Amino acid sequence: MKHLIVYAHPQTESFNHAILETTVKTLEKKGHQVNVRNLYDLDFQPVLRQSELESIRRGETLEDVKQEQEYITQADSIILIYPIWWTGLPAILKGYIDRVFAYGFAYSYEGNGIKQHLTEKKGIIINTHGTPKEIYDQMSMTEALKLTSSTGIFEFTGIEPMEHLLFGSIPDEELEMKKNLHTVENSLHRIF
Ligand code: FAD
Repeated sequence: MKHLIVYAHPQTESFNHAILETTVKTLEKKGHQVNVRNLYDLDFQPVLRQSELESIRRGETLEDVKQEQEYITQADSIILIYPIWWTGLPAILKGYIDRVFAYGFAYSYEGNGIKQHLTEKKGIIINTHGTPKEIYDQMSMTEALKLTSSTGIFEFTGIEPMEHLLFGSIPDEELEMKKNLHTVENSLHRIF
């Protein structure tokens, strides 16, 4: 099975990086193929400009986007790993979605509805946030975060959401952090 991990955190000593390492190690141990697109290492250009929108309308795709779309096409599963910033995706990842999940590639319009182009793929999202989980659950923020990403991005384009993990109160005590990494490992074993 081929996995594509799209990773968006600027620091290598971060907890998100520990999640990335755990995810890669767990999947590779199972004999799966893993490609990681580290958006900060790639210095991914996240701004969708007017000129690019015009290119998309002409059916043309810029080279950097074409390369990322090729990774998606080849993947059986797409795993997004990122911290919650301002109750959403870090700008570099939002820009990746804006540009790479483009009209004509990820979806198109058919009749009165949307044609999903990324069916037959599984999706996983792993998030961390500073606010305690109980508070985000209570104010329905957890639900909102799932709705705007697992549903709004994955389901919209036909990717089947398999898991959406949200770890709150980060950074936390070391023991809690280790437990979170075990949760990641267990989920991956259960799903794949
Ligand atoms: P770090 O801060 O890097 O945590 C490091 C911790 O992980 C340390 O305690 C370290 O000991 C531990 N660690 C590292 N590696 C390992 C390992 N291998 N095993 C065990 N432990 C390990 N939060 C919200 O709730 N809502 C928001 O809207 C929001 N907006 C934000 C906007 C911005 C611009 C920023 C910068 C932050 C925002 N935050 C928000 C907080 C943010 O979500 C958290 O800072 C982030 O999720 C923490 O993840 P991290 O990977 O950066 O953790």
